[in-house]
Amino acid sequence: MSKSAESHLRSLDDGRCVLIDGARVGNVADHPAFRNAARSVAALYDFQARPENREKMTIAAGNGARVSRTWHLPTSYDELVLRREALVAWAELHHGFMGRSPDHVGSTLAGMYMGLDVYEGHPGGRPGAVSDYFHYARDRDLYLSYVIIDPQGDRSRATSAEGNADLAVAIVDEDAGGITVRGSKMLGTGAVLSNEVLVTTLRPLREDEGRYAFTAAVPMNLAGMKLLSRRSYEGAATSGFDYPLSSRFDENDALLYFDEVKIPWDRLFVHRDPKAQLAQWHETPAHAYQNYQAEIRLLVKLRFMVGLARKIAETIGTIHFPQVRETLGELAGHVGMIEAFVYGMEAKGRHRGPYFLPDAGLIYAAQVQSQLLYPKIIHFLRELSGGGMLMLPSSVADFDHPEIAPLIRRTQYSPSLSAQERVKLFKLAWDAVGSEFASRHAQYEMFYSGPRTVTTGMAYRTFDWAAATGAVDRMLASYPTPDIAAPEPAPPDLASPDAPTLSPQTL
Ligand SMILES: Cc1cc2nc3c(=O)[nH]c(=O)nc-3n(C[C@H](O)[C@H](O)[C@H](O)COP(=O)(O)OP(=O)(O)OC[C@H]3O[C@@H](n4cnc5c(N)ncnc54)[C@H](O)[C@@H]3O)c2cc1C
Repeated sequence: MSKSAESHLRSLDDGRCVLIDGARVGNVADHPAFRNAARSVAALYDFQARPENREKMTIAAGNGARVSRTWHLPTSYDELVLRREALVAWAELHHGFMGRSPDHVGSTLAGMYMGLDVYEGHPGGRPGAVSDYFHYARDRDLYLSYVIIDPQGDRSRATSAEGNADLAVAIVDEDAGGITVRGSKMLGTGAVLSNEVLVTTLRPLREDEGRYAFTAAVPMNLAGMKLLSRRSYEGAATSGFDYPLSSRFDENDALLYFDEVKIPWDRLFVHRDPKAQLAQWHETPAHAYQNYQAEIRLLVKLRFMVGLARKIAETIGTIHFPQVRETLGELAGHVGMIEAFVYGMEAKGRHRGPYFLPDAGLIYAAQVQSQLLYPKIIHFLRELSGGGMLMLPSSVADFDHPEIAPLIRRTQYSPSLSAQERVKLFKLAWDAVGSEFASRHAQYEMFYSGPRTVTTGMAYRTFDWAAATGAVDRMLASYPTPDIAAPEPAPPDLASPDAPTLSPQTL
């Protein structure tokens, strides 16, 4: 294993252009807006490199070296489960709060590689580049992020329509060395913390929009690439005690701007081909496989959230109230549903060539539920907490103040925890439920897999409608359909003055 926590942190000091709070960042691994999140990512590499985790977290690659399970291409149900167990172990290190941990886009690339035949079937597909890059990223255990959505602009119009046309990143030139691109892309979660970014488009493009139809994997320090960071919750966190999640797991989101960026040909997976651009998502396992990873991560996060819910109820002495138990039971049912989805996707999996893949229909069904579920879970946690998440000392500094500290002891009574432990739990709960970090998480879980129209559209397309409508047809066929004895009425004579008139509404 070549990658350690230290080597990952060192790799981020590559001259990339990250802009935040009116300044350009030197080294993200040292910057107060990003340094703890960078260390949380580095801790994943540290974990998998430990000798006791070697079997679980890594596999032997074709060349004999051991590589992260992220890059494992399962060929059986058992291998798929082994990979999932490794992803769960990683997600437990951040409790599911790092949505674009390295196994997310790693899964996308693995899915693209498992579908090389799709690139072969299109004139603009470049299977050789996909294959070479898969091995390059795998052997270096690169942390990849992606930007696959155009900035909002005017969503009622095409990417190339006036107004939108200069927003989305597009090919503006090309020569023997590669293509040159200009424009922007949203919303690179983890981009600031990653080694390279996959730049591509998920939404369908028109045949005449070839200049937008490219897919490329590029290092963060390419000349002309600018990462425009949103506000940092880590930077705003006053202490690790007051903001235990914001201060450690703020994976960042950034708008990327490509200012005449030159991309070499060997990094180009799709070139000016709208059909290939779309097919690489839905005809290869890429889209489904990345979202399978997302549901595994969500399961870990939901277990954490319901754990918080129960601890809150114990802390304020409501755990034995039947209504509270009912709420906790409902929460348990929701987590069980996502767990069942994950196991079901695997059990219903099937081979695509040599690879064994989870069932796409169940992945999209899970996403339709997950988008609605997360805000509901937050609502339940708010309901169980009442004002407990706000009835708190202003900051950890209050514990050192001679006048305030004794008052904390007197006011933070709990039947199950000391005053300090009570404050600690509720500060954590607030950071999961109510802080700016928490609020961004609600937005994340609602949107990371696309707006609702997209997830429901995918569920619609992948559902087995033949089985469902076939069942209805069989039922209808099992009893007779009566004949209509009366003759068909004659159609109205429209030339007659008595004929009905058609109102504009009817037209
Ligand atoms: C926290 C966070 C992290 C993200 N991370 C990433 C990332 O790492 N990489 C990446 O590429 N993207 C990322 N995204 C972007 C994400 O993929 C998009 O937010 C998502 O696809 C929705 O697109 P949009 O935000 O442009 O919303 P829009 O498509 O503009 O939709 C917004 C709303 O407008 C309405 N609407 C829009 N179009 C229609 C329509 N045709 N019919 C009916 N109603 C419509 C719906 O109410 C919809 O919910 C992230 C987003 C968030 C919030």
